[in-house]
Amino acid sequence: MSEWKLPWSAQCLCGQVKRRVSAPPLVAMACHCKGCQRLTSGAYSLTLMLPGDGFEVLEGETEPGALRRSESRHHYCVQCKSWLYTTAPSLGGLVNFRPTMLDDASWVQPYVESYVSEKLPGVVTGATHSFAQFPPPEKYQELMAGFARDGAKPA
Ligand SMILES: [Zn+2]
Ligand SMILES: [Zn+2]
Repeated sequence: MSEWKLPWSAQCLCGQVKRRVSAPPLVAMACHCKGCQRLTSGAYSLTLMLPGDGFEVLEGETEPGALRRSESRHHYCVQCKSWLYTTAPSLGGLVNFRPTMLDDASWVQPYVESYVSEKLPGVVTGATHSFAQFPPPEKYQELMAGFARDGAKPA
């Protein structure tokens, strides 16, 4: 997997929580939904979907945040409150990691964008595949295969 130049290191805004990514992402996504706009205070969220065993918190303490009626568990730095990653029973052990936390995120380009139905005007992500809401579950395998082949990788 040398083309991915792994492992990658990541930290939160204050540097308390340090993480390591040691497996290639399955897909890179941008989500324009209203929930992600509120979570990030930005126009959309960026996600690298990682296999759970390719991700570890090396150092620092996290806490759950953004609590609401959802099964998703959003993990935050206890100190600076940066949104770091998300786990959920429906992800089956995968981790939705926030690539903006990488020490080098300069290569990250979403391959799929979701909820363009709620996208703010003027926002362009450059994603190859766009969906009005989330991609239908049966589409993921094809999207992951496409990402493995054509998705952006570290330069
Ligand atoms: Zn979203
Ligand atoms: Zn922090």
